[in-house]
Amino acid sequence: MTIQSSLPSPEEFRRQMEEMLRRAFPGGPPTAGAPEAEPEAGGAAAAEQAASEFNFTLKPREVKAYLDRFVIKQDEAKKVLSVALCDHYNHVRLALQGRAHPNYTKQNIILLGPTGVGKTYLIRCAAELIGVPFVKADATKFSETGYVGGDVEDMVRELLRRADGDVRRAQYGIIYIDEIDKIASVPTATGRDVSGRGVQTNLLKLMEETEVPARSPQDIAGQIQAMMELTRHGRRSASTINTKHILFIVSGAFPGLDTIIKRRLREATIGFAAGVAVKDEDPFTQVTTRDFVEYGFEPEFIGRLPVRVVCQPLEVEDLFNILKNSEGSIIRQYEQDFGAYGIEVLFQEDGLRRIAELAAEEKTGARGLMTVCERTFRNFKFELPSLPIRRLVVTRELVDHPVVDPELLARAQAEQEHAMLRQVVQEFARRFQESFKMTLEFTPAAIEALIAEARAQNVPVRDLCATKFKDFQFGLKLIATNTGQTRFTLDVPEIKDPQKTLSDWVVASYRQTTGESTPPPDQPAPQT
Ligand code: ADP
Repeated sequence: MTIQSSLPSPEEFRRQMEEMLRRAFPGGPPTAGAPEAEPEAGGAAAAEQAASEFNFTLKPREVKAYLDRFVIKQDEAKKVLSVALCDHYNHVRLALQGRAHPNYTKQNIILLGPTGVGKTYLIRCAAELIGVPFVKADATKFSETGYVGGDVEDMVRELLRRADGDVRRAQYGIIYIDEIDKIASVPTATGRDVSGRGVQTNLLKLMEETEVPARSPQDIAGQIQAMMELTRHGRRSASTINTKHILFIVSGAFPGLDTIIKRRLREATIGFAAGVAVKDEDPFTQVTTRDFVEYGFEPEFIGRLPVRVVCQPLEVEDLFNILKNSEGSIIRQYEQDFGAYGIEVLFQEDGLRRIAELAAEEKTGARGLMTVCERTFRNFKFELPSLPIRRLVVTRELVDHPVVDPELLARAQAEQEHAMLRQVVQEFARRFQESFKMTLEFTPAAIEALIAEARAQNVPVRDLCATKFKDFQFGLKLIATNTGQTRFTLDVPEIKDPQKTLSDWVVASYRQTTGESTPPPDQPAPQT
C-alpha cells in the first residue's frame, strides 16, 4: 500500500481498509458463512439450556408489590405494567421451550406522562427484578440515516454489552426509548416532515423482528477483531442479535396530545347529544390509535405498541411520600454521604415536607427533590465534616435557611478547641506515666480546672501542667518507695495547690511506714 500525500476521505479510507482486509483474510469477512460459536436456535439441547437459564415464575401481583417498594403512586401504571411484563416473559419462557403461540402479539408498551414522575424508574426496577438487561436511549438522538446521530441498532448492541456479551440474554432484554413524542412527524409547508417518519420506520423494523449485527458496520476495529478471532480460532462469536423477544418500551410527555383527545371526545358527543360535557377524566387515559396518528405517528408504528400506560403528575404529598417511604429515596443517599464523616442526619417530618413543597415548585416531578436537596445541603456538606458536629437535624427552618449558622460555627469551633486542650492534659499524664512509671490520673473536673486556670493566666495548658507538677516525679517516687503506691488521683482541690498536696502525701507515706495511723494520700482522713 502506498502512503498518500493527503488524508483520504472517510469513505475512501473505509474502501481501502476493506480492500486490505479482503487481501489479508481470503476466507472472507466475518459475516460471510463462518461457523457460529453459539448456534442460534441450534437443536433441542441448546433450547433446553436456554429455557432452564431463564426461569420466569413471577405473578403480576408480585411484580407490583416489588415496584411499590420503590415507585410511589402510579398505581394504575404499575398494574398494567406488571401484567404486560408477566405476559411478555411467560411468552419468552414458552418460546425458549419451543412452545410459544405462533401468532403472539408482543406486549410492547407506550408510557405517557410528564417528566420526572417515575417512568424510567418503573422500568429500571422491573428489569432488575426480572433480571434482564436494560438499555435507555433518547429518541432525539436518532436520525433517519443513522449517520448524523446514533443508529437505532446501536441500542441493541448496547443491550448485548449490558448482557456481558451474552447474545441469548440480550435477546430478551428491555429497550426503553424516551422522548418518543419528538419523532412524531409534524406537518410542514411541503407536507409531512419525513425525518421523524424515517426513524419510526427504523424502529418499527426492530420492534417487529430483525437480525442486528453484533458489531456495527461502522466499527472497523470491531470488524478487525472479529476477523482475528476467526483466523485464530477458526470460528467467531455469534454475530447477530435477533430482536423478536426484545421488549420495547417507549415514553414521552406528548404535549398537545390531550388537546387532540379532548377535541375527538367533544366531536363524538356532538353527534347524538350536543352540549354534553366531556367526561372530566385525565384525557390521556382515553387515548386511541387515531389520536396518536393525528399527533404524527404512523399507524403501523403505534400498532406495534399495544400496551398504553399513563403516569400521573406528582403532587406535594406524593413527593413527601417519595422522600419518606421509597426505598430509593434520595435522603438515603444523604444519610450515607454524611455518615461517611460520622455525621448522623435526622430528617424531621416538617423538614421533608418543606423539601417536597419547594420541589413541587420546580415542576420537574421527583427530579425537583434532587435539585432542592442539593441546594439545601451543599453548605453543610462542605462545612460539617471539618467541625466536631456529629448530628444534623433537618427541620423546616433549616430547609428554608440552609446556611451553617455562624454562631453555631463559633460554638462548634470553641468546643473543638476545648476538646484539644483536654487531650493535652491527658497527653501530659500519659508522658508522665511513660517517663516515671507512675500514674497521674486527673478527674474530668480537674482537667476542666486546669484548662480554666491556663486560660486565666494566658499560658498554654501544657506549660501550666509542667510547672505545677514539676516536683511530682521525685515526691511520688519517695511515696512509692515507702508504700509501693504508684497510682495517684488528682481532683480539683489537689491541683489548686500541688506543692502542698505533694508534701502532705509524702508526710503521710512516712507515717504509714513508721506504723502511725495515717490514711493513704487519696483517701479522706478519719474524723478524730
Ligand atoms: P421520568 O418519568 O422522566 O422517566 P424518572 O423515572 O427518571 O422520571 O425519575 C427520576 C428520579 O426521580 C428517579 O430515579 C427516582 O429517584 C425519582 N422518582 C420519580 N418518580 C418517582 C416515583 N413515582 N416514586 C419514587 N421515586 C420517583
